[in-house]
Amino acid sequence: MREHLAALEARITEACKIAGRSRDAVKLVWVSKFHPAEAVENAIALGATDFGENRVQEAELKFSTPRTALDGSRVRCHVIGPVQSNKLKKAAIVADCIHSIASIEAVEKLEKVCAALPAAGSAAVGENGSGKILDILFQVNAGEEETKSGLDVHEAEAFLESLETRGENAFPHLRIRGLMTIGKNTGVAEDSRECFAFLRNLQRKFLAKGGVFANFDQLSMGMTGDLEVAIEEGSTMIRVGTALFGERDYSKPTV
Ligand SMILES: *Cc1c(COP(=O)(O)O)cnc(C)c1O
Repeated sequence: MREHLAALEARITEACKIAGRSRDAVKLVWVSKFHPAEAVENAIALGATDFGENRVQEAELKFSTPRTALDGSRVRCHVIGPVQSNKLKKAAIVADCIHSIASIEAVEKLEKVCAALPAAGSAAVGENGSGKILDILFQVNAGEEETKSGLDVHEAEAFLESLETRGENAFPHLRIRGLMTIGKNTGVAEDSRECFAFLRNLQRKFLAKGGVFANFDQLSMGMTGDLEVAIEEGSTMIRVGTALFGERDYSKPTV
């Protein structure tokens, strides 16, 4: 894994250089789905701070127990797969950030749930302020593939505008951080450039509005196959599994 990380870091550094961006502007989220808890421990020993999981149950299995990263921070769990309504509460408990929100119902439910949870890193509600503050991103189906979830690309803007009309204080326990997408799965990274650029334009437009979008500064895009293009198009969080942990063995689920 150490060699995988070195090779990946070289790719990230080179892409940042080409894009004229600072390496610090791109967070690496280690996608540990289908890999066992030991793989997570190994990653933490190499300096990983942020992990991504697709399924809530698998996230709970690996990230319910608080862990400390090498830099002294608390290890963060990102839920990056679609979450059914009945799993939103569990997702809010285990996650620091959910990347895959795609409905106003989910936003409203998360606000309610987070108001009733203890603050992250504390044992009880009210111990550290009131309720948990959760980061969320909206997934946009910018690749326009039927199998992928997320907001329809033609409806994403109207969706964001509808949030704006709720007013700046409608969701005190949610930090609305930005947008997420999965690039086109063609095997050619360049094919995703257009959808990454679309996402960046949408994110910039709403960040500029302030209010409920005051923290809308994140773009979660780029995976093993297309992270360079994503970084060039402004990604602030790349979600990388295969390049770090190797191929996933789908015949051996961890849950
Ligand atoms: C699995 C997954 C990733 C990681 O993909 P790799 O190609 O293994 O890097 C990133 N994002 C999402 C949403 C995923 O489901």
